Amino acid sequence: MPFDLEKDLQARRDNGLYRSRKTLEAPQGAEVVVDGKPYLAFCNNDYLGLANHPEVSAAMAQATSEYGTGGGASHLVIGHSRAHHQLEEELAEFTGRERVLLFSNGYMANLGVISALLGKEDAVFQDRLNHASLLDAGLLSGARFQRYLHNDVNNLESRLNRTEARRKLIVTDGVFSMDGDLAPLKELSELSLRHDAWLMVDDAHGFGALGKKGGGVAEYFGLDQDHLPVLVGTLGKAFGTAGAFVAGSEALIETLIQFARTYIYTTSMPPAVAEATRTSLRILQEENWRRERLDQLIDFFRKECKQMGLELMDSHSPIQPVIVGSADTAVAMSNALAEQGILVTAIRPPTVPKGTSRLRITFSAAHEQKHVEQLLDALERTVRPLQEEVA
Ligand SMILES: *Cc1c(COP(=O)(O)O)cnc(C)c1O
Repeated sequence: MPFDLEKDLQARRDNGLYRSRKTLEAPQGAEVVVDGKPYLAFCNNDYLGLANHPEVSAAMAQATSEYGTGGGASHLVIGHSRAHHQLEEELAEFTGRERVLLFSNGYMANLGVISALLGKEDAVFQDRLNHASLLDAGLLSGARFQRYLHNDVNNLESRLNRTEARRKLIVTDGVFSMDGDLAPLKELSELSLRHDAWLMVDDAHGFGALGKKGGGVAEYFGLDQDHLPVLVGTLGKAFGTAGAFVAGSEALIETLIQFARTYIYTTSMPPAVAEATRTSLRILQEENWRRERLDQLIDFFRKECKQMGLELMDSHSPIQPVIVGSADTAVAMSNALAEQGILVTAIRPPTVPKGTSRLRITFSAAHEQKHVEQLLDALERTVRPLQEEVA
Protein backbone atom coordinates (compact mmCIF):
# COMPACT_ATOMS: atom_id res chain seq x y z
CA MET A 1 0.00 0.00 0.00
CA PRO A 2 1.59 3.27 -1.08
CA PHE A 3 -0.01 5.31 1.70
CA ASP A 4 0.36 3.06 4.71
CA LEU A 5 0.19 5.96 7.13
CA GLU A 6 -0.66 3.79 10.14
CA LYS A 7 2.62 1.94 9.81
CA ASP A 8 4.66 5.15 9.96
CA LEU A 9 2.60 6.44 12.86
CA GLN A 10 3.11 3.20 14.74
CA ALA A 11 6.87 3.35 14.13
CA ARG A 12 6.91 6.83 15.60
CA ARG A 13 5.04 5.56 18.66
CA ASP A 14 7.39 2.60 19.03
CA ASN A 15 10.37 4.94 19.04
CA GLY A 16 8.94 7.14 21.78
CA LEU A 17 8.75 10.03 19.32
CA TYR A 18 5.00 10.41 18.98
CA ARG A 19 3.78 13.96 19.50
CA SER A 20 0.40 15.13 20.65
CA ARG A 21 -1.15 18.45 21.53
CA LYS A 22 -2.46 19.77 24.80
CA THR A 23 -5.30 22.26 24.84
CA LEU A 24 -4.50 25.56 26.52
CA GLU A 25 -7.57 27.08 28.15
CA ALA A 26 -6.10 30.32 29.49
CA PRO A 27 -3.93 33.15 28.21
CA GLN A 28 -0.21 32.46 28.01
CA GLY A 29 1.48 33.07 31.37
CA ALA A 30 3.16 31.53 34.41
CA GLU A 31 -0.04 29.94 35.67
CA VAL A 32 -2.13 28.30 32.97
CA VAL A 33 -5.01 25.89 32.58
CA VAL A 34 -4.45 22.93 30.31
CA ASP A 35 -7.09 20.30 29.58
CA GLY A 36 -9.08 21.53 32.56
CA LYS A 37 -6.19 21.41 35.08
CA PRO A 38 -4.10 24.24 36.54
CA TYR A 39 -0.34 24.16 35.95
CA LEU A 40 2.73 26.24 36.47
CA ALA A 41 4.27 26.51 32.99
CA PHE A 42 7.94 26.71 32.01
CA CYS A 43 7.59 26.01 28.32
CA ASN A 44 6.43 29.04 26.36
CA ASN A 45 8.58 31.60 24.53
CA ASP A 46 6.76 34.59 26.01
CA TYR A 47 10.04 35.70 27.58
CA LEU A 48 8.93 39.17 28.65
CA GLY A 49 5.38 38.33 29.64
CA LEU A 50 3.86 40.47 26.89
CA ALA A 51 1.58 37.86 25.27
CA ASN A 52 -1.15 38.76 27.74
CA HIS A 53 -0.24 42.34 28.62
CA PRO A 54 -3.31 44.58 29.08
CA GLU A 55 -1.86 47.48 27.05
CA VAL A 56 -0.87 45.24 24.17
CA SER A 57 -4.31 43.61 24.17
CA ALA A 58 -5.98 47.02 24.33
CA ALA A 59 -3.91 48.26 21.38
CA MET A 60 -5.03 45.25 19.39
CA ALA A 61 -8.69 45.78 20.27
CA GLN A 62 -8.50 49.48 19.45
CA ALA A 63 -6.78 48.80 16.13
CA THR A 64 -9.38 46.21 15.24
CA SER A 65 -12.06 48.86 15.53
CA GLU A 66 -10.03 51.11 13.20
CA TYR A 67 -8.68 48.62 10.69
CA GLY A 68 -11.05 45.66 10.97
CA THR A 69 -9.73 42.15 11.32
CA GLY A 70 -8.00 40.78 8.22
CA GLY A 71 -5.13 42.17 6.15
CA GLY A 72 -7.35 41.53 3.15
CA ALA A 73 -4.65 41.33 0.46
CA SER A 74 -0.92 40.90 0.03
CA HIS A 75 1.40 43.82 0.86
CA LEU A 76 2.05 44.50 -2.84
CA VAL A 77 -1.63 44.64 -3.75
CA ILE A 78 -3.49 46.59 -1.09
CA GLY A 79 -2.70 44.84 2.20
CA HIS A 80 0.11 47.16 3.34
CA SER A 81 -1.55 49.37 5.94
CA ARG A 82 -0.29 52.41 7.78
CA ALA A 83 0.04 50.21 10.90
CA HIS A 84 2.42 47.85 9.06
CA HIS A 85 4.38 50.76 7.69
CA GLN A 86 4.79 52.50 11.03
CA LEU A 87 5.88 49.27 12.69
CA GLU A 88 8.52 48.77 9.98
CA GLU A 89 9.86 52.26 10.56
CA GLU A 90 9.96 51.81 14.32
CA LEU A 91 11.72 48.46 14.03
CA ALA A 92 14.30 49.99 11.68
CA GLU A 93 15.05 52.62 14.28
CA PHE A 94 15.10 50.02 17.06
CA THR A 95 17.59 47.79 15.21
CA GLY A 96 19.68 50.65 13.82
CA ARG A 97 19.15 49.39 10.27
CA GLU A 98 18.21 51.33 7.13
CA ARG A 99 14.98 49.45 6.61
CA VAL A 100 12.78 46.65 7.86
CA LEU A 101 10.31 44.37 6.11
CA LEU A 102 7.51 42.53 7.91
CA PHE A 103 6.67 38.88 7.22
CA SER A 104 3.72 36.81 8.46
CA ASN A 105 5.99 34.66 10.64
CA GLY A 106 9.58 33.63 11.19
CA TYR A 107 9.34 30.47 9.16
CA MET A 108 8.24 32.41 6.10
CA ALA A 109 10.80 35.17 6.67
CA ASN A 110 13.62 32.63 6.62
CA LEU A 111 12.29 30.82 3.55
CA GLY A 112 11.80 34.12 1.74
CA VAL A 113 15.15 35.68 2.54
CA ILE A 114 17.43 32.76 1.75
CA SER A 115 15.65 31.80 -1.45
CA ALA A 116 15.56 35.44 -2.63
CA LEU A 117 19.29 35.92 -2.02
CA LEU A 118 20.67 32.61 -3.28
CA GLY A 119 20.44 30.38 -6.34
CA LYS A 120 22.31 27.48 -7.91
CA GLU A 121 25.60 29.36 -8.30
CA ASP A 122 25.71 30.22 -4.60
CA ALA A 123 26.56 28.51 -1.32
CA VAL A 124 24.93 28.57 2.09
CA PHE A 125 26.78 27.60 5.27
CA GLN A 126 24.62 26.73 8.26
CA ASP A 127 25.31 25.78 11.84
CA ARG A 128 24.17 22.19 12.20
CA LEU A 129 21.88 23.11 15.09
CA ASN A 130 20.05 25.86 13.18
CA HIS A 131 16.27 26.07 13.37
CA ALA A 132 14.34 23.85 10.94
CA SER A 133 13.07 26.86 8.98
CA LEU A 134 16.64 27.92 8.13
CA LEU A 135 17.62 24.43 7.06
CA ASP A 136 14.49 24.12 4.91
CA ALA A 137 15.18 27.54 3.42
CA GLY A 138 18.70 26.50 2.45
CA LEU A 139 17.39 23.43 0.65
CA LEU A 140 14.64 25.39 -1.09
CA SER A 141 17.09 27.99 -2.41
CA GLY A 142 18.93 25.44 -4.58
CA ALA A 143 22.31 26.77 -3.36
CA ARG A 144 25.16 24.42 -2.40
CA PHE A 145 24.23 23.55 1.16
CA GLN A 146 26.79 22.88 3.88
CA ARG A 147 26.29 22.40 7.61
CA TYR A 148 29.23 23.25 9.84
CA LEU A 149 29.84 21.92 13.35
CA HIS A 150 27.96 23.77 16.07
CA ASN A 151 29.55 27.17 16.78
CA ASP A 152 32.82 25.91 15.25
CA VAL A 153 34.39 28.86 13.44
CA ASN A 154 37.40 26.81 12.25
CA ASN A 155 35.20 24.16 10.72
CA LEU A 156 33.28 26.89 8.91
CA GLU A 157 36.46 28.59 7.73
CA SER A 158 37.87 25.42 6.20
CA ARG A 159 34.61 25.12 4.24
CA LEU A 160 34.75 28.75 3.13
CA ASN A 161 38.32 28.22 1.95
CA ARG A 162 37.18 25.48 -0.40
CA THR A 163 34.19 27.17 -2.05
CA GLU A 164 34.09 28.91 -5.39
CA ALA A 165 30.50 30.00 -5.15
CA ARG A 166 29.30 33.37 -6.44
CA ARG A 167 27.58 34.44 -3.21
CA LYS A 168 28.40 32.96 0.18
CA LEU A 169 25.86 33.25 2.98
CA ILE A 170 26.66 32.21 6.54
CA VAL A 171 23.47 31.52 8.48
CA THR A 172 23.05 30.97 12.20
CA ASP A 173 20.56 31.19 15.03
CA GLY A 174 21.51 34.07 17.36
CA VAL A 175 20.34 32.21 20.48
CA PHE A 176 20.01 28.48 19.71
CA SER A 177 16.40 27.54 20.23
CA MET A 178 16.92 24.13 21.87
CA ASP A 179 20.27 24.75 23.61
CA GLY A 180 20.01 28.37 24.70
CA ASP A 181 23.64 29.18 23.91
CA LEU A 182 24.73 32.10 21.72
CA ALA A 183 26.44 31.98 18.35
CA PRO A 184 30.00 33.44 18.37
CA LEU A 185 28.84 36.37 16.28
CA LYS A 186 31.93 38.59 16.54
CA GLU A 187 34.07 35.78 15.11
CA LEU A 188 31.47 34.83 12.50
CA SER A 189 31.19 38.46 11.42
CA GLU A 190 34.97 38.85 11.05
CA LEU A 191 35.14 35.59 9.13
CA SER A 192 32.36 36.67 6.78
CA LEU A 193 34.11 39.96 6.00
CA ARG A 194 37.43 38.20 5.35
CA HIS A 195 35.79 35.77 2.95
CA ASP A 196 33.57 38.24 1.18
CA ALA A 197 30.54 36.41 2.56
CA TRP A 198 27.36 37.73 4.17
CA LEU A 199 26.22 36.91 7.67
CA MET A 200 22.54 36.22 8.37
CA VAL A 201 21.32 35.82 11.94
CA ASP A 202 17.91 34.53 13.01
CA ASP A 203 17.43 36.13 16.42
CA ALA A 204 14.00 34.69 17.20
CA HIS A 205 14.97 34.06 20.83
CA GLY A 206 17.21 37.07 21.42
CA PHE A 207 15.07 39.98 20.27
CA GLY A 208 13.46 41.70 23.21
CA ALA A 209 15.05 39.39 25.76
CA LEU A 210 18.76 40.05 25.20
CA GLY A 211 20.77 43.27 25.18
CA LYS A 212 20.35 46.20 27.51
CA LYS A 213 17.56 47.71 25.44
CA GLY A 214 16.23 44.41 24.13
CA GLY A 215 18.00 44.68 20.79
CA GLY A 216 18.96 41.01 20.89
CA VAL A 217 22.28 39.55 19.83
CA ALA A 218 23.05 42.46 17.46
CA GLU A 219 22.96 44.85 20.42
CA TYR A 220 24.64 42.35 22.77
CA PHE A 221 27.62 41.90 20.42
CA GLY A 222 27.52 45.47 19.08
CA LEU A 223 27.10 44.45 15.42
CA ASP A 224 25.86 47.12 13.04
CA GLN A 225 24.44 46.63 9.56
CA ASP A 226 27.90 46.40 7.92
CA HIS A 227 28.93 43.63 10.30
CA LEU A 228 25.61 41.80 10.33
CA PRO A 229 23.83 42.61 7.07
CA VAL A 230 20.84 40.25 7.34
CA LEU A 231 19.04 40.31 10.68
CA VAL A 232 15.81 38.36 11.24
CA GLY A 233 13.61 38.84 14.28
CA THR A 234 10.31 37.24 15.21
CA LEU A 235 7.38 38.84 16.99
CA GLY A 236 5.69 35.76 18.44
CA LYS A 237 8.22 35.24 21.23
CA ALA A 238 9.47 38.09 23.44
CA PHE A 239 7.24 40.60 21.60
CA GLY A 240 4.20 38.56 22.59
CA THR A 241 2.31 39.07 19.31
CA ALA A 242 2.87 37.36 15.94
CA GLY A 243 4.88 37.83 12.77
CA ALA A 244 8.50 38.45 11.91
CA PHE A 245 10.77 40.98 10.28
CA VAL A 246 13.99 41.30 8.33
CA ALA A 247 16.26 44.29 8.99
CA GLY A 248 19.05 45.49 6.73
CA SER A 249 20.06 47.78 3.92
CA GLU A 250 17.76 49.59 1.53
CA ALA A 251 18.96 47.28 -1.27
CA LEU A 252 18.32 44.14 0.80
CA ILE A 253 14.77 45.17 1.62
CA GLU A 254 14.00 46.16 -2.00
CA THR A 255 15.40 42.80 -3.14
CA LEU A 256 13.06 41.01 -0.74
CA ILE A 257 10.05 43.05 -1.89
CA GLN A 258 10.85 42.07 -5.49
CA PHE A 259 11.96 38.46 -5.05
CA ALA A 260 10.93 36.92 -1.70
CA ARG A 261 8.06 34.64 -2.67
CA THR A 262 6.85 34.17 0.92
CA TYR A 263 6.49 37.96 1.09
CA ILE A 264 4.82 38.45 -2.28
CA TYR A 265 2.35 35.59 -2.40
CA THR A 266 0.64 35.82 0.95
CA THR A 267 -1.86 38.00 2.78
CA SER A 268 -0.38 40.62 5.09
CA MET A 269 -0.61 39.99 8.82
CA PRO A 270 -3.71 41.59 10.39
CA PRO A 271 -3.00 45.33 10.84
CA ALA A 272 -4.17 45.08 14.46
CA VAL A 273 -1.33 42.65 15.12
CA ALA A 274 1.08 45.27 13.79
CA GLU A 275 -0.48 47.90 16.08
CA ALA A 276 -0.28 45.59 19.08
CA THR A 277 3.38 44.98 18.23
CA ARG A 278 4.07 48.72 18.20
CA THR A 279 2.84 48.80 21.78
CA SER A 280 4.92 45.82 22.84
CA LEU A 281 7.96 47.37 21.16
CA ARG A 282 7.45 50.50 23.25
CA ILE A 283 6.97 48.52 26.47
CA LEU A 284 9.96 46.29 25.95
CA GLN A 285 12.19 49.31 25.37
CA GLU A 286 10.85 51.22 28.38
CA GLU A 287 10.56 48.43 30.92
CA ASN A 288 14.08 47.24 31.60
CA TRP A 289 12.81 45.51 34.72
CA ARG A 290 11.44 42.71 32.56
CA ARG A 291 14.90 41.75 31.33
CA GLU A 292 16.37 42.32 34.79
CA ARG A 293 13.76 40.05 36.40
CA LEU A 294 14.49 37.41 33.78
CA ASP A 295 18.23 37.57 34.46
CA GLN A 296 17.64 37.27 38.21
CA LEU A 297 15.38 34.24 37.80
CA ILE A 298 17.88 32.54 35.48
CA ASP A 299 20.80 33.19 37.87
CA PHE A 300 18.82 31.91 40.82
CA PHE A 301 17.75 28.79 38.94
CA ARG A 302 21.27 27.99 37.76
CA LYS A 303 22.78 28.45 41.23
CA GLU A 304 20.21 26.21 42.87
CA CYS A 305 20.59 23.51 40.20
CA LYS A 306 24.31 23.50 40.74
CA GLN A 307 23.81 22.99 44.47
CA MET A 308 21.41 20.19 43.73
CA GLY A 309 23.92 18.53 41.40
CA LEU A 310 21.66 18.90 38.38
CA GLU A 311 23.68 19.48 35.25
CA LEU A 312 22.70 22.33 32.95
CA MET A 313 24.06 23.53 29.63
CA ASP A 314 26.22 26.60 29.13
CA SER A 315 23.27 28.91 28.63
CA HIS A 316 22.54 32.28 30.15
CA SER A 317 19.45 32.87 28.05
CA PRO A 318 15.86 32.14 29.15
CA ILE A 319 16.25 28.71 27.51
CA GLN A 320 17.67 26.30 30.12
CA PRO A 321 17.69 22.73 28.86
CA VAL A 322 18.37 19.68 31.02
CA ILE A 323 19.82 16.97 28.76
CA VAL A 324 18.59 13.51 29.72
CA GLY A 325 19.56 11.34 26.73
CA SER A 326 16.83 9.01 25.56
CA ALA A 327 13.46 10.15 24.29
CA ASP A 328 11.65 7.81 26.69
CA THR A 329 13.42 9.25 29.72
CA ALA A 330 12.67 12.80 28.65
CA VAL A 331 8.98 11.97 28.28
CA ALA A 332 8.91 10.13 31.63
CA MET A 333 10.43 13.16 33.36
CA SER A 334 8.09 15.57 31.68
CA ASN A 335 5.12 13.41 32.73
CA ALA A 336 6.40 13.14 36.30
CA LEU A 337 6.67 16.92 36.50
CA ALA A 338 3.17 17.33 35.07
CA GLU A 339 1.83 15.10 37.83
CA GLN A 340 3.19 17.68 40.24
CA GLY A 341 1.55 20.49 38.37
CA ILE A 342 4.61 21.69 36.44
CA LEU A 343 4.66 21.88 32.65
CA VAL A 344 8.04 21.43 30.99
CA THR A 345 8.31 20.11 27.44
CA ALA A 346 10.31 17.03 26.48
CA ILE A 347 12.22 17.79 23.28
CA ARG A 348 13.11 14.76 21.18
CA PRO A 349 14.53 13.91 17.75
CA PRO A 350 14.22 15.02 15.04
CA THR A 351 14.08 18.45 16.72
CA VAL A 352 17.38 17.64 18.46
CA PRO A 353 20.08 15.05 17.59
CA LYS A 354 19.51 11.45 18.73
CA GLY A 355 20.65 10.75 22.29
CA THR A 356 20.27 14.39 23.34
CA SER A 357 16.60 14.43 24.28
CA ARG A 358 16.01 17.02 26.91
CA LEU A 359 13.67 18.94 29.13
CA ARG A 360 13.50 22.42 27.68
CA ILE A 361 12.83 24.78 30.57
CA THR A 362 12.06 28.36 29.62
CA PHE A 363 11.72 31.39 31.84
CA SER A 364 9.64 34.52 31.49
CA ALA A 365 9.42 37.86 33.22
CA ALA A 366 5.90 36.70 34.07
CA HIS A 367 7.44 34.20 36.53
CA GLU A 368 8.08 35.06 40.14
CA GLN A 369 10.78 33.74 42.42
CA LYS A 370 8.26 31.49 44.19
CA HIS A 371 7.41 29.84 40.84
CA VAL A 372 11.05 28.99 40.27
CA GLU A 373 11.25 27.60 43.82
CA GLN A 374 8.30 25.32 43.04
CA LEU A 375 10.02 24.18 39.86
CA LEU A 376 13.23 23.44 41.76
CA ASP A 377 11.35 21.40 44.38
CA ALA A 378 9.67 19.37 41.67
CA LEU A 379 12.96 18.80 39.84
CA GLU A 380 14.55 17.64 43.08
CA ARG A 381 11.72 15.19 43.75
CA THR A 382 11.29 13.77 40.27
CA VAL A 383 14.12 14.40 37.87
CA ARG A 384 17.06 13.67 40.17
CA PRO A 385 15.82 10.16 41.12
CA LEU A 386 15.04 9.37 37.48
CA GLN A 387 18.44 10.67 36.38
CA GLU A 388 20.18 8.49 38.96
CA GLU A 389 18.18 5.47 37.76
CA VAL A 390 19.40 6.07 34.21
CA ALA A 391 23.02 6.74 35.18
C1 LIG B 1 10.32 30.13 16.50
C2 LIG B 1 11.45 30.25 15.54
C3 LIG B 1 11.22 30.54 14.19
C4 LIG B 1 9.85 30.61 13.62
O1 LIG B 1 9.23 31.79 13.93
P1 LIG B 1 7.64 31.85 13.85
O2 LIG B 1 7.34 33.29 13.80
O3 LIG B 1 7.13 31.17 15.04
O4 LIG B 1 7.27 31.13 12.57
C5 LIG B 1 12.31 30.76 13.39
N1 LIG B 1 13.57 30.63 13.86
C6 LIG B 1 13.82 30.32 15.14
C7 LIG B 1 15.24 30.20 15.61
C8 LIG B 1 12.77 30.09 16.01
O5 LIG B 1 13.01 29.74 17.26
